[in-house]
Amino acid sequence: MMSTPEDQSCGICGRPLNVEVDPLSGDCGGDCWGCIGLIEAQMGGDPEENISIGSVATEVDWGWRESGGSPKSQRFFLENPEIGKTPVS
Ligand SMILES: [Zn+2]
Repeated sequence: MMSTPEDQSCGICGRPLNVEVDPLSGDCGGDCWGCIGLIEAQMGGDPEENISIGSVATEVDWGWRESGGSPKSQRFFLENPEIGKTPVS
């Protein structure tokens, strides 16, 4: 088991941050990318300026998020470690 410090979890959803198999657990200033990406995407605007819109749409395509952009649970990635790998390198 990987040890995770108590404070290393998302301030919004409580998701543990920086978990290797969970690409949505990236630390965005104390919150996870899963939450931040969706919030930013929901702000809307010009997709060329708000790149989170495209990023979230891509992650929906990859199966990392529900169709509405909600992040899938960390358990999903822990149980399916292959899916969290970025399809394009
Ligand atoms: Zn979160």
